[in-house]
Amino acid sequence: MSGSQLSDAQIQLQRAMAHLDLPTDTRERLKYPKAAIRVAIPVRMDDGSLQIFQGYRVRYEDTRGPGKGGVRYHPHVTADEVESLAFWMTFKCAVMDLPFGGAKGGITVNPKALSVMELERLSRGYIDGIADFIGPDMDILAPDVYTNAMIMGWMMDQYSLIQRRISRGVVTGKPIAMGGSLGRNSATAKGAYTVINNVLPRYGYQPPNTTVAIQGFGNAGGILAELLFRSGYRVVAVSDSQGGIYAPEGLDIPSVKQYKETTRGLEAVYCAGSVCQRVDYQRITNAELLQLPVDVLVPAALEKQITQDNAAQVQAKVIFEVANGPITAAADAILAQKGIPVFPDILVNAGGVTVSYFEWVQNRSGWYWSAAEVDQKLQERMLRETNEIWHIAQAKTIPFRTAAYVHALGRISDAIKARGTRD
Ligand code: GLU
Repeated sequence: MSGSQLSDAQIQLQRAMAHLDLPTDTRERLKYPKAAIRVAIPVRMDDGSLQIFQGYRVRYEDTRGPGKGGVRYHPHVTADEVESLAFWMTFKCAVMDLPFGGAKGGITVNPKALSVMELERLSRGYIDGIADFIGPDMDILAPDVYTNAMIMGWMMDQYSLIQRRISRGVVTGKPIAMGGSLGRNSATAKGAYTVINNVLPRYGYQPPNTTVAIQGFGNAGGILAELLFRSGYRVVAVSDSQGGIYAPEGLDIPSVKQYKETTRGLEAVYCAGSVCQRVDYQRITNAELLQLPVDVLVPAALEKQITQDNAAQVQAKVIFEVANGPITAAADAILAQKGIPVFPDILVNAGGVTVSYFEWVQNRSGWYWSAAEVDQKLQERMLRETNEIWHIAQAKTIPFRTAAYVHALGRISDAIKARGTRD
């Protein structure tokens, strides 16, 4: 595939624009990121040497509210990748009707190669670099691939130091002790679970006869695997960055998780207490996982996993995108021809940013909610927007991704129109 990741993502938008009578102003505004900053972050390493890392923050569109989106630490982070992730955040926030625009950040780094102290210096250095570009009413950060609550805590603290006042609302996904929300850590997985569990019965799939393969075993994929397992789905394959495991009879996900947490390796095991035993399984690659004969496929790792090169080999009956952008525009067309419904990232993984919104609201009001309250509000919102998108897709006979963009575009366009003639 040639061209940038952003231009590929924009094809998804163009497909939706064809179904709406949109003013030219809206079309024009959505073509380019509104603002972007690139910073060089100097970090004093533990051995005394100085290393410079590249950091990015992009705000794509903010007519509906301050920019919102995570920060990714990964060796392959590029400006183009961050732009496309900011683009998806714009539509994700609108799909969920959150009062935010879309933004994203990233640092080109392998965080697994850094000590905790180096990681802290890097995270604080990133905030030093972008402090004028972010804020609770301007652009709000959150976790993404290989970042977590601990890192969000450092970032909020560094921003507060620079501002000389405590500013909790600039970052979400913080530790609970620093103003984080209960339920934020599992929110992406719970939101995805709500969509999956609501949609599958509409196609006649019920646990325990439904097989699921999940690519990615991090905060999203790992917790989702457990939620599906606990409600009786047969999770037959999971993978991490090193590869995957496949057991057609189903994996005991809590055991697999427990084992991975202690050894850092993914093995098909069954654990009784702390004693784990291997069960029969096949070792597979991440590419093989995508082509397994399963009912449900859940890409929950990185972008561009299903492309025009492997889309024809996908055997799953329904796909739910938990990663951002795992299916390219060309692959989308092939899957549609094969009659495989795809439930898009901007709906399925929107639970994370939805609870980020709840966290921001709690920070601003200073009134904190119970875990049950968070879960219930999340579920309500996920079901409401899933139904809306389902109806748009039926009424217009269009794929769910296109329907989700149509849904989001309506809201974004209303905001652009309402703002009047300011250019
Ligand atoms: N990184 C997550 C996403 O891609 C969460 C963003 C947020 O909470 O702002 O949706």
